[in-house]
Amino acid sequence: MMNEQQLKMLNEEVERTEGILRLAPTWVPRAFMVPGRRLKLHPDDLYAFGKERGGINERWFASTTPADNGPDAEADEGLSYIAIPDGDNYQYALFKDAIASLGEKWLGKEVMDKHGGWTVLTKFFDNKGPIPFHIHQREQHAKDVNKKGKSEAYYFPPAYNQIEQTFPYTFFGLDPSTTKEDIKTCLQAWEKGDNQILAHSHAYRLEPGTGWDVPAGILHAPGSLVTYELQNNEDIFGMYQSVVEDRPVPRDLLVKDVPVDKAYDFDYLIDIIDWEANTNPSFKKDHFRPPVPVQSETEHSQASQGEEAWVVYGTSNYSAKQVTVYPQSTYTLYENEAFGFISMQGRGFIGKQRVETPIMLRFGDMSADEGFVIKNRAKLGVELYNDSMVEPLVLLLHFGPDA
Ligand SMILES: [Zn+2]
Repeated sequence: MMNEQQLKMLNEEVERTEGILRLAPTWVPRAFMVPGRRLKLHPDDLYAFGKERGGINERWFASTTPADNGPDAEADEGLSYIAIPDGDNYQYALFKDAIASLGEKWLGKEVMDKHGGWTVLTKFFDNKGPIPFHIHQREQHAKDVNKKGKSEAYYFPPAYNQIEQTFPYTFFGLDPSTTKEDIKTCLQAWEKGDNQILAHSHAYRLEPGTGWDVPAGILHAPGSLVTYELQNNEDIFGMYQSVVEDRPVPRDLLVKDVPVDKAYDFDYLIDIIDWEANTNPSFKKDHFRPPVPVQSETEHSQASQGEEAWVVYGTSNYSAKQVTVYPQSTYTLYENEAFGFISMQGRGFIGKQRVETPIMLRFGDMSADEGFVIKNRAKLGVELYNDSMVEPLVLLLHFGPDA
């Protein structure tokens, strides 16, 4: 929680900015992945956490979730900071602490009563190759290890995907002809080499400007596009593929979130897989997410100034929208709930705050591409102004549950 002094500073900042707060970039390394180098971080800073910690391949947005990166992780790893100008420098306040103290004002009483805080984790992940085929538990298996289930959703922003890296395909689910015996055989072959589980799945070509919805219990092996991901803020997973790109996956990661006495219970490991959802013959039809333009009176009246589209939708867990403001244009957003934002392209203003999409950032430096808009301001309307002569201003907005 925050002390009086910090609360005073934040309340003054909300007043000064009219509810549009600036957030500092939050970089996260992953020891087991090879970074795709597309997050606009200076190449010399890719291993800023030290080479043993792995390269930086993620950036987290409006995060109240610590990165579960083991004992070597920094105490505040994964957590976002609100940046408050102070002369030529900034004062920083943890977004998580601010929500704990000011959540009722910033998110609304209803959200705090029902969800207890900001429960969506939003990030970019940027990998050179594919992630191992894995699953996030549903509630019924998550509770066995005192965790919550986790769903996720992806969108591939075109401005971050001019380079696709080595494997722009994602395996989702299982072929409808797959039997539980087939998968059991793969899991039993873990130590023999590649357990060939991907032979039972299908890969889909990833298309920049589209996305996918991945509920808990569905196997997936995300490909190499830069992915804007929304998910429930819980760290829970099981890796089901024993070798990826010739790198062995330790069996510990298969049973990381499985009760100790179930580690070799193959029926339990199979049961984690939502069989019906994985073998759905209409998988793409049900889970592919092309953008859906926002149709409303206000939007229509501003059609010459810009456009909005839902890019994450169809779940009550979270949602996300892409807003495009044309060059030399002004566009007003009206939202019912608080939201975080990150700019993909261009420059201009959100309310009184300057927005600039970076070409390159140094680790530890401020950016001007990220922020958070509190609920009352979102409802009043947020004016976006694009002062570029030529480029659109493109923002992604991330919302919590039930927005
Ligand atoms: Zn996942």
